[in-house]
Amino acid sequence: MPHPGEHSLSSLKIYFRLLGYLRPFIGLFVTSLAGFIIFASAQPMEASVLKFFVDGLTTPGASTFHGVPIVGKLDLAYGVPLMLVLIVFWQGIGSFLGNYFLARVSLGLIHDLRLALFQSLLHLPNSYFDQNNSGHLISRITFNVTMVTGAATDAIKIVIREGLTVVFLLGYLLWMNWKLTLVMVAILPVIGVMVGSASRKFRKQSKKIQSAMGDLTHIASETIQGYRVVRSFGGEDYEAARFRASSEANTNKQLRMSRTSAIFTPALQLTTFTTMSVVLFLVLLLRGDASAGDLVAYITAAGMMPKPIRQLSEVSATIQKGLAGAESIFSQLDEKPESDNGTVERDRVAGRIEVRNLSFSYPGSAQKVLDDISFTIEPGQMIALVGRSGSGKSTLASLIPRFYHHEHGHILVDGVDVEDFTLRNLRRHIALVTQQTSLFNDTVANNIAYGDLAGAPRSEIEKAAEAAYAREFVEKLPEGYDTLVGENGVLLSGGQRQRLAIARAILKDAPILIFDEATSALDTESERHIQKALDQVMKNRTTLVIAHRLSTIEKADVIMVMDQGRIVERGTHAELLALNGYYARLHAVQFNEDEEGSEAALPHASSSLNSPGSHGTLT
Ligand code: ATP
Ligand code: MG
Repeated sequence: MPHPGEHSLSSLKIYFRLLGYLRPFIGLFVTSLAGFIIFASAQPMEASVLKFFVDGLTTPGASTFHGVPIVGKLDLAYGVPLMLVLIVFWQGIGSFLGNYFLARVSLGLIHDLRLALFQSLLHLPNSYFDQNNSGHLISRITFNVTMVTGAATDAIKIVIREGLTVVFLLGYLLWMNWKLTLVMVAILPVIGVMVGSASRKFRKQSKKIQSAMGDLTHIASETIQGYRVVRSFGGEDYEAARFRASSEANTNKQLRMSRTSAIFTPALQLTTFTTMSVVLFLVLLLRGDASAGDLVAYITAAGMMPKPIRQLSEVSATIQKGLAGAESIFSQLDEKPESDNGTVERDRVAGRIEVRNLSFSYPGSAQKVLDDISFTIEPGQMIALVGRSGSGKSTLASLIPRFYHHEHGHILVDGVDVEDFTLRNLRRHIALVTQQTSLFNDTVANNIAYGDLAGAPRSEIEKAAEAAYAREFVEKLPEGYDTLVGENGVLLSGGQRQRLAIARAILKDAPILIFDEATSALDTESERHIQKALDQVMKNRTTLVIAHRLSTIEKADVIMVMDQGRIVERGTHAELLALNGYYARLHAVQFNEDEEGSEAALPHASSSLNSPGSHGTLT
């Protein structure tokens, strides 16, 4: 999926950048390289043993291993087999060193890349997650990284091992008969052109495969997360068709890639073996004064050439897949992290929030979600935000902890622009309960004491749970505070999840509290209890409550009514009722609903009809 900042890097640049990650493993890498040099050097040795064997056959007793250590003085009958075993032993050592140490290098590299990707996820701005779907982000960590493994292990292994084999064999062949060997060298440019054109195809196709893999992950994870909706709205056929189409697209793309390589390999074989036949022909024709042993060794060595050449050229597919994977990985790593240029750090703030002429549009959209907002919250005050769905309440709340960067206007905490704080320090002062509660698949206690709060004493956790009115239900859970809550808290009810989120915010004990619709999933009874708890925690704290049930905010110091990104009314509950404007209308609607239990014609809260569970709320 394209996103801003993605740029096509040249293959070489990507490869060198990938190799840059090898720097910490240089020792292991050199060891493995030595192993492959040993391995490759054994190939021409094997060919040359044949020379001695054949020469021994044709002229018994005539040849000896002149100048060869250890076996040089031995009789040929003992010397040839012994030498063969020694060569293969030598090759085995090379093979072990090469393979094992390269595996250590490449697995280390994969590990580092995965960590780098994950680390970048932790610091990318919210807008990045808005623009990239999670399926693609996940498949980048799981699938694309394994593609890079291919380029890092298999490819490097083959390039080094087979490349050196070709070099050694070629050296041996040139030494034996350079004129004949030049005939073989002549096909190298032809092979180069073939490999080049296939590589370009591989690269293109493999990018498509990765993107298709992302789509597949995306659809699967959406269906898994939304399985209740899928079933209750009869979405099975739709999802099945969508998934089948995506999987088919994936299969076709993989097939296209396989076809490219399936055509490429025999074509290459044909080219190399045609050359080989020409060489054979020339050998037979121009035999000259060479011994039978020389000729057999020459042909054997020449016959060893096509295999490494084929492997070398096939590796281009692996490399191109890896490069395509690395390209998408690097494009994520190159994304700008959340800007964190502030330097101010405070141990504790009083909690005065001042917003001046704040306007905001989401990145890439022209629509003004917030339009010239100004207000001040004194330390310890409670401010309530109400207004229609989509009027910008959550957006305003998310700008205070700098989840998005705002261009116009200022937000000051204790007189310091939020941009001047370090991100971590700013967020330490703010406890946030968002509209969608996020719980982790961990125990109740660990969910309350999450992040910076981890390791908080159990008594503190229990106090926070008590204040959030969660104690009662937690103690009824099979293992109390040690009960696992399931993925995103699926084992709990909506209201219970919210109370844990509130307990988390209470435990954080921050001077600024932001509750976004924190009480909407609660029944009136629990809501009343939470209300009391909140009244307690709100003391000495600055609180911004985004409320949908107006009953929860009647005591607010100031109620601000938002509409289409503007604050259209502000005042206390009584003042706003007296004003008889937006707020009074909203209030009348809810009052009627609560009285009659009906959802009759609502002037403003038409969207409240969308969800049966939101009875009596504004959204
Ligand atoms: P509700 O009461 O339903 O929670 P809200 O007042 O909190 O509504 P916001 O979530 O602030 O509304 O949304 C305000 C506007 O911004 C909406 O029109 C919405 O479409 C848009 N919006 C919200 N989040 C994003 C986003 N991440 N990217 C782009 N636009 C967004
Ligand atoms: Mg909202």
